[in-house]
Amino acid sequence: MPVAEIASKITPEATPKEILETTLKTELRKQWETVLLHLQREISPANFYTWFKHTCLHSYDDMSGLFVVGTPNAFTKSWLDNKYRQNIINAAFASNLSIKKLELIIDSSLNNPENPDRVDPVKLIKETKKAPLSQSRNNTLNPRYVFDNFVVGDNNRLAYAAGKAVVAAPGESYNPFFIYGGVGLGKTHLIQAIGNAMVRENKQSRVLYITSETLTNDLVNAIQARATKKFKDKYRTIDTLIIDDIQFLSSKTQTQEELFHIFNELYENNRQIIISSDCPPREINSLSDRLKSRFEMGMIADIGIPDYETRLAILRSKCQERGIIIAPGVLEFISQEITTNVRELEGVLTQAIAQWQFTHIEPTVDIVANFLTKHHRLTSIKGNKRSVGMEDVVNFAADYLDLAPADITSRGRRKEIVTARQICMYILKHDLNMSYDLIGQNFGGKNHTTAMHAVRKMTNDLQTDKALVRSVNAIRRDLGLL
Ligand code: ADP
Ligand code: MG
Repeated sequence: MPVAEIASKITPEATPKEILETTLKTELRKQWETVLLHLQREISPANFYTWFKHTCLHSYDDMSGLFVVGTPNAFTKSWLDNKYRQNIINAAFASNLSIKKLELIIDSSLNNPENPDRVDPVKLIKETKKAPLSQSRNNTLNPRYVFDNFVVGDNNRLAYAAGKAVVAAPGESYNPFFIYGGVGLGKTHLIQAIGNAMVRENKQSRVLYITSETLTNDLVNAIQARATKKFKDKYRTIDTLIIDDIQFLSSKTQTQEELFHIFNELYENNRQIIISSDCPPREINSLSDRLKSRFEMGMIADIGIPDYETRLAILRSKCQERGIIIAPGVLEFISQEITTNVRELEGVLTQAIAQWQFTHIEPTVDIVANFLTKHHRLTSIKGNKRSVGMEDVVNFAADYLDLAPADITSRGRRKEIVTARQICMYILKHDLNMSYDLIGQNFGGKNHTTAMHAVRKMTNDLQTDKALVRSVNAIRRDLGLL
């Protein structure tokens, strides 16, 4: 979402919490508007305006797939629930939202005309008509995902090279091209970059990008409307078929059956097929063997977790794309902290930029660290705390700092040992709220003032020493405290 758009909704006095909430709400509003635009194609205008008036997307969690729609009163709620539940689900799929559970709630604040969350369908449709969505034949591709802004590292080099080869010779040697890897590692980016490059090379090329949910949904709709021939024609008359997240086809036997026929026809006609998944074909649950073996016929490449240098390069590239300069130390810090998911890496950067924009305070390591502790990892703090004890803290610190646990509890005066000991004391106090007395006793029967001094010194040093912030947070995270 463009920063300017969020900025217009945020007052200069807004706190970071308010900023995040506004950002989230703007995002939800946009998602709901997209869903409504799909919905209005399925429902008569009168019904659409009557029943979707003053509704909102209350929340959407793309990990759990829970999609909560807010309605202004009990009557609308039960009407939507009884009549339009399936339409809403279909429209959410068509908007590329991976909805797994739809919930409807009553939110009486939607009756207030001042409430910025409620959507006015009449206005929405009017505005969209003024600026029609481009109806080019390849409008399923997101133009933001291109090869130029895809950072290549050891984790994705093969997938990237194979993708380039597919563009150079579609339907030839790497067919199908199957990419697999964990969440948020760049699969969608890469397969869409391939599609965009194909269209760029050949404007006439018909590229269809689709998620497996949309595919299933299209089929269900076609069956309901007795239009399966149209469905088949749509998929059989394209040059390149890109299917994202094929793992969601598990157990969808009828869609699998149709896909099998579509696959064969495209393949025999040398059309390119590109597929992404969260695991290799063999490991997809409840996928028919014949599809598995089809998917294994061409090229299989995986995308792994990027190393530190690649993560840093990705952050630099994202900053460049947005025309923003952020202190190198901050980017290094984020790359150190967020290790397993590029989407999350980018999310932290976006939030750092948003805060900067609104508070006019340039992000520092401290601000980002604080923010990570407060917002990002908040959910994992609870529950784990009680099970962590003195020994765990020492063991994990020793592991991270490459020392022996016995060194840390010894009376050694070597600088790195002293620091390690102080880090442990800090965590024991700060995160586990252990008494200074007990901390002192645990560290070779020291007096409580030694522990108090250590914790004070750490608290002080953590204000300025970013390497220290990094170590402490890494250890806390390993312990499940962050
Ligand atoms: P996946 O489909 O594997 O879950 P995405 O393709 O949606 O992941 O990637 C998540 C985000 O991370 C996207 O914004 C994408 O642009 C970005 N991203 C992932 N890998 C790279 C990369 N190598 N270079 C640049 N951006 C990347
Ligand atoms: Mg994806």
